Parts: sequence; C-alpha cells; structure tokens
Amino acid sequence: MTATASDTPAVAHFRFFTLEVLRTRRLGHSFLRVTFGGESLADFRSGGFDQSLSLFLPPSGVEHTVLPSTDEDTWFGAWRAMADEERPVMRSYTVREQRRDDEGAVEVDIDFVLHGDTSPASHWAGRAAAGRRILAIGPAVADNKSVRFQAPADADAVWMYADETALPAAAAILDRLPAGIPVRAWFEVPHEEDRLPLDTAADAEITWIVRAGDGRERTGRVLDVLRAAQPPAAGAPYVWLAGEAGTVRAARRHFVQERSVDRRSVRFTGYWRLGASEEQLLAEAYAGKAPSEDPASEL
Ligand SMILES: Cc1cc2nc3c(=O)[nH]c(=O)nc-3n(C[C@H](O)[C@H](O)[C@H](O)COP(=O)(O)OP(=O)(O)OC[C@H]3O[C@@H](n4cnc5c(N)ncnc54)[C@H](O)[C@@H]3O)c2cc1C
Repeated sequence: MTATASDTPAVAHFRFFTLEVLRTRRLGHSFLRVTFGGESLADFRSGGFDQSLSLFLPPSGVEHTVLPSTDEDTWFGAWRAMADEERPVMRSYTVREQRRDDEGAVEVDIDFVLHGDTSPASHWAGRAAAGRRILAIGPAVADNKSVRFQAPADADAVWMYADETALPAAAAILDRLPAGIPVRAWFEVPHEEDRLPLDTAADAEITWIVRAGDGRERTGRVLDVLRAAQPPAAGAPYVWLAGEAGTVRAARRHFVQERSVDRRSVRFTGYWRLGASEEQLLAEAYAGKAPSEDPASEL
C-alpha cells in the first residue's frame, strides 16, 4: 500500500523558539554577530541559503521577551492587544548559520546591522548580552517558504545584489552554492571595513560598493555600478536581489529591462525601506497595500 498525503500528519513549518544569547562578536564596522542557544533550538531546522525568521525583541530596559501566548492560533491577537509600551517588536532577520557545538547542542548565528540606537532592533542588538532571552518564529522543517533563494536546476549563473542587511543572507547563499557555478555579486555596505571575508566553492566575482550619499543618490550609484559591469555571458542566469526596497526595485528593472533577464528568474525582496519602520511595512501588508514581490509582477 502506498502512503498518501492524507495519511501523513501535517507538519507545522514554523513555530515559536526561545533563543538565549550565548555570546556576541563584532564583525567589520556595522555588524554584530549574536550567537543564540537554548534547548528549544533542538527542533530548529534552517533551510540554509537566505532562511529568514521573525524575532520578537523586548522594549528598551526589559531583559527578556515575554508574550501572552505562543499558541499558533492565539499569539497574533494577544500580541497585537498588548499595550504599546509593553509589546515586543517583531523584526525579520536571517539565519547566518545553524550548527551543533561539541556537546551536540544547536547554535544559531544572526548578524545584526547596527544602524543607530533609536530603532528597536538595532538598539536591542547593541545591548545584547549573554543570558538575555528573546522569542522567534522560525523554521521547524528545512523545506519552508522563508527560504526565498530557489535557483532552478537549469540556472547556469547566479547574479546577486545585496546591501548590508542582506549581506548575511548573501554570505549564507554563497556558503551553499555548488563548486564552479559562475557568480557575479555586487554588495553595498556603509564602510570599507564592512567588506567581510566570504567563503564559497562557487566561481565568484564580487564587487564591493562602499556607500556614499543617501536616498536617490545611493540607488543611482548602485545602478551606475551595475550598468558598467560586464558579467560573463549566461543563457539562464538566476538573479537574487535584497536590501533597501527602492534600490532593490531599481535593480530589478535594470536586470529585466536593460539585461533582458526573464523576470520570473529574478527573486527580489525589500528587506527595509528608507524612512519606514517594520511596523509601517507590516501595516501596509495587513492592509493589502504592500508592493508585490512576486517575480511575475509588473515592473
Ligand atoms: C527577510 C529579511 C531578512 C533580514 N535579515 C536581516 C539580517 O540578517 N540582518 C539585518 O541587520 N537586517 C536584516 N533585515 C532587515 C531588518 O529587518 C530591518 O533593517 C529592520 O527595519 C531593522 O529594525 P529596526 O527596529 O532596527 O528599525 P525599524 O524600527 O524597522 O526602522 C526605523 C528606521 O530605521 C530605518 N532602517 C531600518 N533598517 C536600517 C538599516 N539597516 N540602515 C539604516 N536605516 C535603517 C528605517 O527606514 C526607519 O526609518 C532583514 C529583513 C528581511 C525582510
């Protein structure tokens, strides 16, 4: 007898985990690596590549994250109903690496960009200390929808653009790419010292764009660099773009309109938007006003 999908109990792809800070380490100028552990991570299953998760970070001055409910049916309403000054913020981050320590316990690294003390996640990261606990909704199965990098089997090259918020994801993607695949990557960072060492078996050529200027100026600079580049010819490139939403949209138009890449082969994600907190972006998403990130969507 053959088992069918209806015989197998549904496995929840995501669930709550408690993450305890084990240690921190400064990387480059703008990054802080926070290494988390804790018993609940025994069931954590990162799919690698650009695996993301949602962190719940406590208000300033509060030691650990507390939510009224972590039940999958009730947590959202209970979280939204909390008083503003008590409600933990929810923020998206990337699993830079999941591994086991010498005793077999799971550790997870998350690389935070420190972009100032007034934004909740950056503020929290700047004060992360061993023993502090947060909550996260993360992957319980490796094959999950929060791994956005999905290069088709016939892709013959990978082209990437990332700003600093997406550099942890880009680094994790480079970790996983097979030997020899041609990669052309453009990574935009705020400071010279943010040009972090990257390991890959792929045949990667990386251009670092050290930022100068803000807003339109920064997008314009990235476009100038992309336009001047001459990536080796590829028949079926897969393009992955992530970072500030305006720059990501402009880069998508560049690859589709100026380099004739099939738009269905371009995976693009706005990781943040200049002038908007993640609450504002979530509010747009709940109201159905968020710009589509479907690769098939209009440019
Ligand atoms: C799938 C996904 C994965 C992500 N992975 C990572 C990751 O691994 N590491 C990481 O650092 N970030 C990552 N981000 C981006 C991160 O979620 C945002 O930068 C987030 O806004 C930070 O929250 P905050 O509380 O610090 O700032 P918010 O309260 O959300 O924003 C406050 C203000 O700061 C601005 N702002 C937000 N981020 C930055 C920034 N980096 N530089 C300058 N200004 C900024 C906003 O435009 C706003 O004006 C990811 C985002 C997504 C969607």
